[in-house]
Amino acid sequence: MQTAPKSLRTHILFAGRVNSGKSTLVNLLAGQNVAITSQERGTTTDVVEKSMELRPAGPVVLLDSAGTDDDSTLGVLRVERTYKALKRADALVIVTTPGVWGEPEAELLSAATEDKIPVIMVVNKSDTASKEEVFSALPESKSPPIAVSAVDTSVANRDRFVEQFTAALLTVLPEEHFAAQVLLQDLVPENGHVLMMVPIDSQAPKGRLILPQVQAIRDALDGNAICTVAKESAFPEIYSRFTRLPDLVVCDSQVVKKMIETIPEGVKCTTFSILMARMKGDLGQLAAGAAAIASLKENDRILIAEACTHHAGCEDIGRVKIPALLQKKCNCKLNFDFYSGNDFPDELASYALVIHCGGCMLTRKTMLNRLHTVANAGVPVVNYGVCLSYCTGVLNKVLSPFENL
Ligand code: SF4
Repeated sequence: MQTAPKSLRTHILFAGRVNSGKSTLVNLLAGQNVAITSQERGTTTDVVEKSMELRPAGPVVLLDSAGTDDDSTLGVLRVERTYKALKRADALVIVTTPGVWGEPEAELLSAATEDKIPVIMVVNKSDTASKEEVFSALPESKSPPIAVSAVDTSVANRDRFVEQFTAALLTVLPEEHFAAQVLLQDLVPENGHVLMMVPIDSQAPKGRLILPQVQAIRDALDGNAICTVAKESAFPEIYSRFTRLPDLVVCDSQVVKKMIETIPEGVKCTTFSILMARMKGDLGQLAAGAAAIASLKENDRILIAEACTHHAGCEDIGRVKIPALLQKKCNCKLNFDFYSGNDFPDELASYALVIHCGGCMLTRKTMLNRLHTVANAGVPVVNYGVCLSYCTGVLNKVLSPFENL
């Protein structure tokens, strides 16, 4: 894979009224026609995504959205999608035109402020007004607003706009956005040894490892550690060959029991899912959510949420293994709802527990937004790794490498 995974890219949402020129700006940044542009109102009907490298800001995903002032029946649904896309955004670009700042823009700004999403304002079609009028309607902002005229949107002037836009992006994004997201290297000394147990079963993708495993190997190497990867079946044999104990052992949540039975007491160990939970979100919130499993009762509703869709097989972890394990652990019948995809549900209050997947395809910002939404609904949340380790009785063990949870 030559390019950064989507989950490590800065997501930038372009939003504004119908025909404010959002798609023109996205196309200009991308240097190609990603989105259809036209004088017709409402040409963009759904969120369009384009991944690109925006040096020196790094890899980004540009999200082009439908106008937020479209009040037709379909338009209302499109606006909903735009606001859902905002939940995935690291930065919002409010696109407007000279002298225009009203309810649609103010609502976008207020939603972004509530979710702590930094905002860049762009006044498009600036050549249609006097210099004084261009920014006259805008509220104050962290980064000076950008004026874009018809001349600026020509391909010949692309570099100027890209430069201006990137500078604004670097101004508004908080420092922590650029902080390296560490999976495990802080848990292992320089030249230390990480041993990983990876099951290759019917659920494993053909010919490759899954993203959390690949990222963990890369993170160990970035931290100058030695990394050994063993299949579940060969793990005890490989483990017995070491004369020195590994500094950290990591396994897939589904084989956590086998890992713990194999390694001696005192060796630090955890799961890929728990490492991912710490990097992407709030491991403390997920660990605290495990306490709710003990008080689940007959017919409680549980939401199992996955960030991407896949065909569920008979060994599927979210749809088959976790429901079976949880009902066995709680000794009662539970009702499960399943959700997968980009837009996280808003109606959560009726659930006794939310169980989220590892979220390896989500950005940290998106995962934190989801956890925030669940917390606001007053519902406890765990992820697959926490849930499986709790049900197997080894949660304390796999959380022990992390202090101050
Ligand atoms: S469902 Fe979740 S854990 Fe599985 S691949 Fe998608 S984002 Fe990653």
